[in-house]
Amino acid sequence: MFPKKVFESFQNIPTPFYYYDLEVLKEGLRRIKAESEPHGYQVHYALKANPNITILNIVKGYGLGADCVSGNEVKRAIEAGFDPRHIVFAGVGKSDEEITYAIGCGIFCFNCESMQELEVIHKLAVKAGKKARIALRINPNVNANTHKYITTGLEENKFGINLWELESVMERLPELKSLELIGLHFHIGSQITDLTSFKSLCLRVNEIQGWFVSRNIKIEHINVGGGLGVDYHEPDKNQYPDFKAYFSLFHEFLEVRPGQQVHFELGRAVVAQCGTLVSKVLYIKKGQNTNFAILDAGITELIRPALYQSYHSIDNLSKKFMPAGSVPVLRYDVVGPICESSDCFRKAVDLPETERGDLIAIRTAGAYGEVMASSYNLRDRVKAFYSA
Ligand SMILES: *Cc1c(COP(=O)(O)O)cnc(C)c1O
Repeated sequence: MFPKKVFESFQNIPTPFYYYDLEVLKEGLRRIKAESEPHGYQVHYALKANPNITILNIVKGYGLGADCVSGNEVKRAIEAGFDPRHIVFAGVGKSDEEITYAIGCGIFCFNCESMQELEVIHKLAVKAGKKARIALRINPNVNANTHKYITTGLEENKFGINLWELESVMERLPELKSLELIGLHFHIGSQITDLTSFKSLCLRVNEIQGWFVSRNIKIEHINVGGGLGVDYHEPDKNQYPDFKAYFSLFHEFLEVRPGQQVHFELGRAVVAQCGTLVSKVLYIKKGQNTNFAILDAGITELIRPALYQSYHSIDNLSKKFMPAGSVPVLRYDVVGPICESSDCFRKAVDLPETERGDLIAIRTAGAYGEVMASSYNLRDRVKAFYSA
């Protein structure tokens, strides 16, 4: 948690704002590098989790590539100095303009999600007079055991090419001469905390690889996606995911063929814990069975609780540095100012008695937080501050 000095520096910043602790970011990246490099893995950072340029510059400095899901993310990655040869581009609905732009940039690979997309990328590559490197994003039908809105690897989801379509895709592919098949791509979901889901993925990828091997199709790259979760409940105790266990699991269970390169795409696990949404209490109001602490931040700054029923640890910073036991603990529904009943960070939160003007920290907000902010209710765009 923040030292008192950081808390004091917050007093002069207009709320609400995002605070990013760059030391936490760097320590996480150092661990990722230390645990992935010995296995020869290439890790890409999923920009969609947090595309702030300050963060991208640091991430790039640790040798990660970029995983993009839109043309503008490709553009942002290049602006931040990522080498196009380390940029992958996924997404179930890439537009013609985005594809043409990315072909022009010479990105490493398109992760393709349907037969029709392959046809379109081929046509646009021909038009550009270039070859496009592609990986097939295969839907492995593996359950990530996470919230249904962030499960992506089941046949009921819109993502990827289903296993039963592979035969016909592979029949057509040799005719698409401006496409070069270099890999297979998988991504089963997000906020995965039970590593056995990744073990299931490895075993399924081994089977799928067998299918390609039996047809004498050489696959140079295996991309197993991202999805490693973080501890939203105990951000101080578990500030970093167990990267060692994560990468070791793939080393143990994923069958890698000679010369094959394995890729990962981590988003949340890189940035979630370095970000905090800091907000001020505007009003305390008595409800029927509860007290409402009404903040000056809401779903417009952090939509995750409303969108995914996600949990964020909430601290009253103004009371944090008072002697223990000097303030009674009361129960609050911590809500925002937006005209929606879903604008609630969490119900029944135990906090030291909270008053108008107190600063509240909503923790573990570095991923899918600021980037999902909106201007609904014509709210001002939330600002970002970084540790020195
Ligand atoms: C969102 C996404 C990721 C990153 O997911 P995290 O859960 O943040 O690690 C990786 N790959 C693809 C294709 C994605 O869409």
